[in-house]
Amino acid sequence: MNTIPHWINGSPATGETTQAVFNPATGQEQARVVLGGGAEVDAAVQAAAKAFETWSESSLSQRTQVMFTFRQLLVEHEEELGRIISGEHGKTVDDARGEIVRGREVVEFACGLGDVLKGSFSDQVSRGVDVHDFRQPLGVVAGITPFNFPAMVPLWMHPIAIATGNTFILKPSERDPSAANFVADLYQKAGLPDGVFNVVHGGKDAVDAILTHPGIEAVSFVGSTPIAKYVHEQATSHGKRVQALGGAKNHAVVLPDADLEFAANHITAGAYGSAGERCMAVSVAVAVGEAADALVGILERKANEVKVGPGDQPGTEMGPLVTKAAQERVENAVGVAQTQGATVVVDGRGLKVDGHEDGFFTGPSLLDHVTTGMEAYKEELFGPVLAIVRVDSLDQAIDLVNANPYGNGTALFTGSGEAARRFQRRIKVGMIGINVPVPVPMSYYSFGGWKDSLIGDHPIHGPEGIRFYTRPKVVTTRWPQPAQQVTAGFTFPTSS
Ligand code: NAD
Repeated sequence: MNTIPHWINGSPATGETTQAVFNPATGQEQARVVLGGGAEVDAAVQAAAKAFETWSESSLSQRTQVMFTFRQLLVEHEEELGRIISGEHGKTVDDARGEIVRGREVVEFACGLGDVLKGSFSDQVSRGVDVHDFRQPLGVVAGITPFNFPAMVPLWMHPIAIATGNTFILKPSERDPSAANFVADLYQKAGLPDGVFNVVHGGKDAVDAILTHPGIEAVSFVGSTPIAKYVHEQATSHGKRVQALGGAKNHAVVLPDADLEFAANHITAGAYGSAGERCMAVSVAVAVGEAADALVGILERKANEVKVGPGDQPGTEMGPLVTKAAQERVENAVGVAQTQGATVVVDGRGLKVDGHEDGFFTGPSLLDHVTTGMEAYKEELFGPVLAIVRVDSLDQAIDLVNANPYGNGTALFTGSGEAARRFQRRIKVGMIGINVPVPVPMSYYSFGGWKDSLIGDHPIHGPEGIRFYTRPKVVTTRWPQPAQQVTAGFTFPTSS
């Protein structure tokens, strides 16, 4: 059986301890991944620290040339990488290709480094004195990423970290680890020097080694909220800069003046695409007033039409969940919702896919009359379950969304500009869609939620990415003329 190694200093590195990697569509173990700890993280830090000495001194154009080539390789290998992701995660190949394209956009942003890393210059702030600023890389930085976007989420991090002159250690999810090694190989083919991009596989041991290693300057984390809080606390207490993005419960509010067919179409795709395993998935539809009955009717029809099957089969719209445990957790949650009083309009439990009876499949589930006290509302189910909550007005809908501890994404479906404006100004959520169900910002904006969806103060990629992976210097300069008499004052300097 294939063993997936670490990637340290430009070479594969094996280890003693391994863990199974499954094909979620068949339920079969298909590979093993090595699990690293303190020794592997330390080896990666040593390699990355050595590489930093030269990489941080390379020119902007050398760094962007690597990014341009890397981008082209991502284009050429999109299908192959998409199939690798689909085979370990379960999502459809087309959906996997979609995440590669969205991740590649961050590489494109990094290709424009010469522009986005420009400093500023102020001439003659005082007589004969100028001021300029510039930013420098931090050193060795690390990224810890979730299973649900094994290519895109790391791509939110490493292109910007590397382009700005840092060296990088990726600790991907142990559930779908192969995409990380594939990307490492593409970087090497793109001409990135050994040691600039490293991969250490593993779970908690590897993460803890990263959070406490004195040679790592900054940690980027994306995953569930409890782990995001842990990572933020541990890494900041060890003196590191931390980005920590957490979980979500995303609401789509539907007003009676919306085009309900359009709204239901998009909500269905947002709820069941990637089997609901997206941090921007629509997991709650808030039906306002008389929109409710008609909306539920259309959502029911559409949920029943979703084509569930293996991710590599043409025509499949929704694949299996990532693990058997996830399948059991989601199906159990539907049962709990029923006992707590929700109406199960569409029941996805127990779905069997012909020829894939042991796959981790569950069908789309639609729950109506869900209330905020129910587990199905409070928990991030991270599966193909859409809950309908009914309210009487837009203001009630806004209050409901604002009372939720998460604030990653939200959407409003309406034909009213006034309602849209009121919604976007009052809602306590970081990323908002108006008639757009999954409002993931483009790479030249930054991505990040509010409240429990982002711990600390650092959104990811775009301008915030540049800021996160660099620190500024401000230089005040005077070049006295040879004949000039300069008297040094003892009072605090002011400009004149
Ligand atoms: P997870 O929190 O279980 O794992 C994320 C990473 O943390 C993995 O690399 C994992 O190995 C590591 N980890 C897990 N348990 C740990 C522990 N006890 N100590 C130290 N490290 C640990 O998340 P997941 O299940 O892989 O991904 C799904 C979650 O990620 C969902 O909550 C989803 O909303 C969230 N997510 C958020 C965003 C966002 O942008 N906010 C994006 C994608 C996913």
